Amino acid sequence: MERVEALLERQSTLPGWTAEHQGRLAKSQVFLAGIGGVGGVVAQYLAMGGVGTLVLVHSGDLELPDLNRQTLMERSGLGKSRVAQASERLSRQVPECRVIAIDSRISPWMESLVASSDLLIDARTNFEERFLLNRMARKAEKPLVFAAMNGMEGMVVPLRPGSGPCLECLFPEGDPEWDPLGFPVLGAISGAVGAMAAVLALRILSGYGHGAEDRMTVFEGMDLSTRSFRVKRGRHCKACRES
Ligand SMILES: [Zn+2]
Repeated sequence: MERVEALLERQSTLPGWTAEHQGRLAKSQVFLAGIGGVGGVVAQYLAMGGVGTLVLVHSGDLELPDLNRQTLMERSGLGKSRVAQASERLSRQVPECRVIAIDSRISPWMESLVASSDLLIDARTNFEERFLLNRMARKAEKPLVFAAMNGMEGMVVPLRPGSGPCLECLFPEGDPEWDPLGFPVLGAISGAVGAMAAVLALRILSGYGHGAEDRMTVFEGMDLSTRSFRVKRGRHCKACRES
């Protein structure tokens, strides 16, 4: 316990930060869909911020082109499971954090893990998995932080599927411009977006700071500008009507 306190010494000196905020993080479980360029950074900051349990879900083995952005991975892990490496690395980095690693795409059998989590992070690159997670979040009424990037642009939005807007309210048809295998990536942009998503997640879980619900923030790397706007429930959203 003393070790955890020492680890979080600098975080605990934030103005207004209390033991209660930290206690809520320690008790929290976060379901992370994707531990690539964006999700890997989220995972690291959540673990380092004192989140008690992380459920990491990602399929596939590490390839060389992944290494321009996936900060949890190492050259020695080429050809090996990415989520297993992420789990090992996090366990070395923050042994206090419990990690559950699942080498799989998002799948309906994960419903109980979603239901037992306090918050979901959507850092996938395809709308098939994103929409499935969104529907599970809606059913379990769990807050969901959506994080995405493309080229020099990134976006984050905290959503409340069930009581507020869901992902399908915002992107009813997905986004045909996003090619999961081919969109351009400046690694630092995925890191910036991951860090923003981690800030949101840590605030939502701990109750620190002001609510940011239903506001999408778009980060433009070409001039370092951000814009933020309110998002609303879609009147004809299929996910909101069906589930
Ligand atoms: Zn909806």
